[in-house]
Amino acid sequence: MTAFVEFDRIRKNYGDVVAVREFNLEVEQGQLVAFVGPSGCGKSTVLRMTAGLEAITAGQIRIDGKVVNDVEPKDRDIAMVFQNYALYPDKTVFENMGFGLKMRNTDRAEIEERVRRAAGILKIEQLLERRPAQLSGGQRQRVAVGRVIVRDPKVFLFDEPLSNLDAHLRGEMRKELIKLHRRLEATMIYVTHDQVEAMTMGDVIVVMRDGEIQQHGAPLDVFNRPDNMFVASFIGAPPMNMIRGTVERAGNKISVNTADGRIALPAKLGKAVEDRSGTEIILGVRPHNMAIVAPGAKTKSLRGGISLIEQLGTETLVDIDMDGFAVQACLPPTTDLNDGEAVGLTIDFSKVHIFDAATEDAICHGMNHIGPR
Ligand code: ADP
Ligand code: MG
Repeated sequence: MTAFVEFDRIRKNYGDVVAVREFNLEVEQGQLVAFVGPSGCGKSTVLRMTAGLEAITAGQIRIDGKVVNDVEPKDRDIAMVFQNYALYPDKTVFENMGFGLKMRNTDRAEIEERVRRAAGILKIEQLLERRPAQLSGGQRQRVAVGRVIVRDPKVFLFDEPLSNLDAHLRGEMRKELIKLHRRLEATMIYVTHDQVEAMTMGDVIVVMRDGEIQQHGAPLDVFNRPDNMFVASFIGAPPMNMIRGTVERAGNKISVNTADGRIALPAKLGKAVEDRSGTEIILGVRPHNMAIVAPGAKTKSLRGGISLIEQLGTETLVDIDMDGFAVQACLPPTTDLNDGEAVGLTIDFSKVHIFDAATEDAICHGMNHIGPR
């Protein structure tokens, strides 16, 4: 199958600023692809170039096999939902949803049918005669989505459409958009800075930084096998602990000498770094893959003092200060720990990632991850 949307070495300069560079990606028909990355990494710029709202400095964008670089936005058969989706305040929900079609000279009966069908999908049939001021934030969001559904475009583009909603509503709308995508089987590109949205919504996630793709793939693949430290830190919450140390070899025993003492590596991980003796590496350990034991316990890898305890109810987050660095552990709910207490830390090495400290690229991943492969 050929790709439905192809980004072929896309570049965007704003004067001296390179907003997007060497952006290569193929989006299959019917896929929901989530672009995720920190503010300013170029997500919106790629989306706007796709929609035709921004000129492409170099490279080609092809949609359904056709180069669209010089195609007018209105002729691209693309619909976009923005973060600040302004609805017309004086028009009803029906008129807001039908407006785009009216501008395209669609006939009345057709507009009526499409608006009613979209309203049915979004469960807003009862709101069609209201004006935007009479709607809640979530309802307005649905209308904004409805406006693009009625167009039945080849590609849907979403630019952080949920970021103006409160956390609870955002979670609800996220699920609705996932179901909407399943129902429409439409090709969608969804931009977000929220890694939870990206992980849960995307068939594929594209992690961006400074105008470049760092990694793309199925969400769990990216989570389990991050290519570098940036991806590892950005995907997953709370973020991965990065423990710096030098590889040491004594016979066939490999350890990592950190600012707080040696961490002995199990044979399998040791093997991956055995020829790096004397060089710096980073052990990446997610907070969920650490546990607390007695400070004198034989199994411990590190020892430190608790600096902060955050009770979430569902789990307990614990910050631990070592000599020279700090880590965070995410534990099942417990009230048995106290600020300032000395504790030992164990690491689930089957889920550890090792990075080259100089290049920040991944060297190996622990083997015991959930999901495919
Ligand atoms: P994101 O959507 O990931 O937050 P953007 O695509 O909006 O990032 O921006 C990418 C980069 O391009 C940023 O450095 C931003 O400052 C710059 N940029 C965006 N739009 C313009 C513009 N119209 N003129 C100059 N620079 C811009
Ligand atoms: Mg943006």
